[in-house]
Amino acid sequence: MKKLLWLTAAVMTATTPAGAATLTDSIRADMPQLMTLYRDLHANPELSMQEARTPAKLAPEMRKLGFEVTDHVGKTGLVAVMKNGPGPVLLIRADMDALPVKEQTGLPFASKVRATTLEGVETDVMHACGHDTHITTWLGTARRLAAMKSQWSGTVVMVLQPGEELGLGAKAMLDDGLYSRFPKPDVLLAFHDSASLPAGIIGVARGYALANVDSVDIDVRGIGGHGAYPQTTKDPIVLASRIVVALQTLVSRENSPFDPAVVTVGSFHSGTKHNIISDDAKLQLTVRSYTPEVRKKLLDGIARIARGEAIAAGVPENKMPVVTVREPYTPATFNTEKLSSRLIDLFGSHFGPNRVVETKPVMGGEDFSQYWLADKTKEATIFWVGGVPKAKWDAAGGDDTKLPSLHSPFWAPEADTVISTATEAMTIAALDVLKKS
Ligand SMILES: [Zn+2]
Ligand SMILES: [Zn+2]
Repeated sequence: MKKLLWLTAAVMTATTPAGAATLTDSIRADMPQLMTLYRDLHANPELSMQEARTPAKLAPEMRKLGFEVTDHVGKTGLVAVMKNGPGPVLLIRADMDALPVKEQTGLPFASKVRATTLEGVETDVMHACGHDTHITTWLGTARRLAAMKSQWSGTVVMVLQPGEELGLGAKAMLDDGLYSRFPKPDVLLAFHDSASLPAGIIGVARGYALANVDSVDIDVRGIGGHGAYPQTTKDPIVLASRIVVALQTLVSRENSPFDPAVVTVGSFHSGTKHNIISDDAKLQLTVRSYTPEVRKKLLDGIARIARGEAIAAGVPENKMPVVTVREPYTPATFNTEKLSSRLIDLFGSHFGPNRVVETKPVMGGEDFSQYWLADKTKEATIFWVGGVPKAKWDAAGGDDTKLPSLHSPFWAPEADTVISTATEAMTIAALDVLKKS
């Protein structure tokens, strides 16, 4: 499969789009300005659904380029539209939120920002998922498309989305009329920086790219009492422990080995003191899958196991565990066949086959999925751009488990390579979608 791919790319190199060198040069010339923006965004991260400074900074830039800009779409989102004659409508999305993480990269422009989450918890804030590279690339691409207006025809809808990390932003923008108040897109594009690829390498998955993500809470209720008299209690810690162990069999014994699935208990809280048996224990789970069928099997299984173990422990009916699947969940992200295959060929011919790989799906989640799910007749692809500095990649022998992952306080992508590569990739993808007939 790979050989065939490289061959296709090699054949297509002979027909490199006209103006490729010019595009690379103009992006190179723009990089000092883009990197100034990047460092500013990195030093001033904002938590999900509380983005204010970021859209306010980008809006005038987009107006200057001739985009029609609307702010506060889906609370803090920004939509910038450029109509340039007949043709398809292309949506290019960047997410702009950061994470409650204390930065430890040691970068000179590292974040020192503290803020309060929607739940009221004060925290350090860091662009630990690299969304600052996405925002910068978004502007870089807008600048190129504005400068190259004579080379394309159609409409570009640039979306700066809030709240990706909570899985809320895309839905908030769609609910706020993204597809009715603005030109409805035919093609959807986004990229994400990658901690699993060397800097400047582009990865494209065909079909499923990222997983269904459900957050599940289990409130395990017992009967509290004195630690010395367990016979008078129903110990929720012992019961919750049994539930945690039994949950492991959902993936290992009930699910087909050919269907990807993850059930992780990420949080287990109970009790106050050595000699008190608590009356409840709280579990928090992340549940990952691709298909709706596997998702249902896992969620049904979690409810069944929690109840079954409580019955086995002799918990009374009115104290059965309460299982809550949080809404909204993040649905799996699907790269449509036609567009993802086209991009693999296009990127291969433009950058050379050594810079493009076909990637496997990952169990991470992305609410970019929502844009395609809102209308499945459209074409959609999210691609990866590697951010791991080459020397670090080589030192780790290409083993990404030895490197900081996305969301790590140490994640410091080689930002200039990510931004220049992604801007070039996004621009040629846009020019291809919007080519004059
Ligand atoms: Zn993230
Ligand atoms: Zn992200």
